Amino acid sequence: MNLCYWEYKSWLSNIDFTIVGSGIVGLNCAFHLKKQFPKAKILVLERGVFPQGASTKNAGFACFGSMSEVLSDLKQHSEEEVCQLVQKRWEGIQLLRETLGDHPMDYQNYGGGHEIFLKDQLHLYEDCLENLNRVNTLLNSVFGKDAFLVHPNSFKFKGVHENYITNPFESQINTGKMMKALVAKVQNSGVIILNAIGVDSYQENIDHVVVKTGQFEFKTNKLFIATNGFASQLIGETVKPARAQVLITKPIENLSIKGTFHLDEGYYYFRNIDNRILLGGGRNLDFQGEETTSFGETNLIQNRLEEILRTIILPNTPMEIDLRWSGIMGMGNQKKPIVKQLANNVYCGVRMGGMGIAIGSLVGKELANLLK
Ligand SMILES: Cc1cc2nc3c(=O)[nH]c(=O)nc-3n(C[C@H](O)[C@H](O)[C@H](O)COP(=O)(O)OP(=O)(O)OC[C@H]3O[C@@H](n4cnc5c(N)ncnc54)[C@H](O)[C@@H]3O)c2cc1C
Repeated sequence: MNLCYWEYKSWLSNIDFTIVGSGIVGLNCAFHLKKQFPKAKILVLERGVFPQGASTKNAGFACFGSMSEVLSDLKQHSEEEVCQLVQKRWEGIQLLRETLGDHPMDYQNYGGGHEIFLKDQLHLYEDCLENLNRVNTLLNSVFGKDAFLVHPNSFKFKGVHENYITNPFESQINTGKMMKALVAKVQNSGVIILNAIGVDSYQENIDHVVVKTGQFEFKTNKLFIATNGFASQLIGETVKPARAQVLITKPIENLSIKGTFHLDEGYYYFRNIDNRILLGGGRNLDFQGEETTSFGETNLIQNRLEEILRTIILPNTPMEIDLRWSGIMGMGNQKKPIVKQLANNVYCGVRMGGMGIAIGSLVGKELANLLK
């Protein structure tokens, strides 16, 4: 694409900071850079017409990890590390609320997040109940109160144990509203966002970086990579893509289910939104097939989601599926994100795992703070 003098001059010259990716991390990075350097010219480049990764596709749980997830983490990490992970999620959500306010993203707490246990998961259920006090004591420094409580099956899910294990602090947001508000906030602060521009490669020079996109090339003083599940296309860090599939029902009359729910060790999750049920998960049915950066849905996973919906969540309620979609997450063998300097003028904030809404604001801020 041949750019004219005005286009170069106004959009692409004298760029101080360029951020690749306009997900929650890239946008927060841009926002905090602008706060630190109010006069800086900051550009965000986004490959999609909308942010096209996970931040606009997710389930919108403002969550900290369910009981079985914390227990599973305790098998791989020390108590101190698990406590730090949960603390980060807690701080991340507080920062997101502080940045945008609760109303613009429709932040709601409907009595918390509930982990429900399938009848054939007796061992897991008992293990979680037995460890309740241990985990509550461990996480007291984060929440100041018990993080997990026993709660009866008040929504009458079928084929599950009589109690949920509930985290009363877990809430939900409207993902679309959150991202729209974040984009507006960043643009209002004076940052330029260009959509439908994919970065193909970059070349590091002594005092600047040359960025090559599908359409044009330009120079920037510093480059920040916030492309999460797509990170390995640009940088050498080990981030594996992980696709997550979702469906949503049409509105259901008199829907009484409200809250966020985790099922089968967190491999499935569902919530209410606008009198509908949004349900996602099932990656464990085909880990290998879902390790992809291609969007799409498969019969294997979509059929299982529908089965769970019809037999466990809404066994006696007629409903129809309205939409199905997928998003791409960035995973690794550790739960900690990678926030670091890669070269003199290149930085990255990637590998958000399944909790990027919880930690994304904080990671974006940490990425910007690498310049401090
Ligand atoms: C279905 C689903 C449900 C989820 N549910 C939850 C949840 O309930 N709670 C929670 O905390 N987390 C959840 N997550 C995870 C969370 O959404 C992610 O961890 C988070 O959004 C990651 O944010 P990010 O900014 O790092 O990455 P992304 O949002 O993926 O942003 C990266 C951006 O980079 C762009 N990009 C990539 N390569 C290039 C390139 N070369 N040039 C230009 N642009 C590029 C992409 O288009 C994308 O917009 C879920 C994820 C999915 C998919």
